[in-house]
Amino acid sequence: MAKPLSILFVSSEVVPFAKTGGLADVSAALPQVIREMGHDIRIIMPKFAAVSDRKFKIHDIKRLTDMPVKLGDRTILGSVKSSFLTNIKTKVQVYFLSNEELYCRSDLYVDPKTKEAWPDNDDRFIFFCRGVIRTMLLLGWKPDIIHLNDWQSALIAALIKTEYADEPLFKNTRIVFTVHNAAYQGIFPAESFEKTGLPAKTFKSEGLEFHGDMNLLKAGLMYADQITTVSPTYAKEIRGSKDYGYGLEGVFKKKARKTVGLLNGMDNAVWSPEVDKLIPATYSADTLEKKQENKKALCEHFKLPYDPAVPVIGIVSRLADQKGFDLIKEKLVDLMKLDLQIVVLGSGEKKYEDLFSKAAKKYKKKIGAHIGFDDELAHLIEAGSDMFLMPSKYEPCGLNQMYSLRYGTLPIVRATGGLADTVEDLTAKPKSGTGFVFTDYKSKQMLDTIKRAVEAFKDEKTWQAAMKRAMKKDFSWDASAKKYIELYKKLLKKK
Ligand code: ADP
Repeated sequence: MAKPLSILFVSSEVVPFAKTGGLADVSAALPQVIREMGHDIRIIMPKFAAVSDRKFKIHDIKRLTDMPVKLGDRTILGSVKSSFLTNIKTKVQVYFLSNEELYCRSDLYVDPKTKEAWPDNDDRFIFFCRGVIRTMLLLGWKPDIIHLNDWQSALIAALIKTEYADEPLFKNTRIVFTVHNAAYQGIFPAESFEKTGLPAKTFKSEGLEFHGDMNLLKAGLMYADQITTVSPTYAKEIRGSKDYGYGLEGVFKKKARKTVGLLNGMDNAVWSPEVDKLIPATYSADTLEKKQENKKALCEHFKLPYDPAVPVIGIVSRLADQKGFDLIKEKLVDLMKLDLQIVVLGSGEKKYEDLFSKAAKKYKKKIGAHIGFDDELAHLIEAGSDMFLMPSKYEPCGLNQMYSLRYGTLPIVRATGGLADTVEDLTAKPKSGTGFVFTDYKSKQMLDTIKRAVEAFKDEKTWQAAMKRAMKKDFSWDASAKKYIELYKKLLKKK
């Protein structure tokens, strides 16, 4: 085999250590597949409170204890600890940058009391980025590729291309920056810029400046050698309009030639009905009748009457505007008139938490809601529901529709981002369809599509054929991981 690559994968969340969304799943699954392909890939993330030393067998790295890191005119100490991802035969090393004061908090990015971002998120993630570089220098480990993810690690691109431009360790290093969600940009007041340590000349519109503020996502977009997003459709959408680019559409357009959309994969070891340890009854495309046991358990969990003839629609999501909950809000009363049941698992914006809690009290036999984060229940919902609803306003890739397909739980989606790239409409394409798709972000379209799905559910034969087709779709990481490796190699060949 050709020479293995060395890759540093930088992410603010990694399953099982800390997670708020899909980024954490990607940050565990992709490196593990790349490791299995024989490359030396290591991960680094902040050591949040959830990252327990005991639970994850984390140990100190002596020579990386109390490492001084500059943050503006202060010097702050950080220590690097280490553990492994062990789901595969060959382990993946994970480094954790620790600083009690900055990271040991109940939530990753948001103060649960105020529901606002932690006021010192600039310090927390500037320190993280500078700390990652310090760690590399002290380890003396020369990565061929540094793969950054989202605004929390984006600053590293700018630092390496400016302050560390002459650093021999990074002489041949190429930087890949993946945008998992362009709406989250890490915008801070101009005064925060000084803390980055970057040369003043980088605070301009061709650099980190954004309408007078500092935009950390831009640090990645402007300085990385390669930009990727997590689905081909999303790559096009973010340069097309403000609805998707959130003010950076112009930058995305300028960087179009440097950008590619690579569809995320999913972790089949964790999300497969054949082997899922978290569901009452495992099943496959050949034993679909066993899915009913999960449906029964799901109804019991939510104290809903169980009826095989009534479709259960599942929702597992961050309760954020992005996910299309205003459409559901508008049509909730109409939905409750249909012959269906809805189960919701999610947490996030209060208006949606209230919406579903209240609805569950009002429509006791039709809707169940669990406000919170619960991995086990997420698995039960995927396994026990008949359909899965994702009417997203935008969806960079989306994992839940892929999980749903694997579990034979037909997705009802809006055709945006990764949803458009993974689900085919059953009515339009009865022979190849795997779900139900609508195009305009309008509540009536969503309602009509749900009605269509409820109607289609009555035709058991066609429905089961679609379930089987959906379950056979291959969204494993192998194909996407190979594309990342090709991309890394292409970059390394470029001068
Ligand atoms: P996003 O990253 O935008 O939140 P994705 O669909 O890409 O959306 O990934 C969401 C991931 O988070 C999935 O693995 C999903 O199961 C999980 N998830 C979201 N909300 C919850 C919750 N309340 N409880 C358990 N898992 C959740």
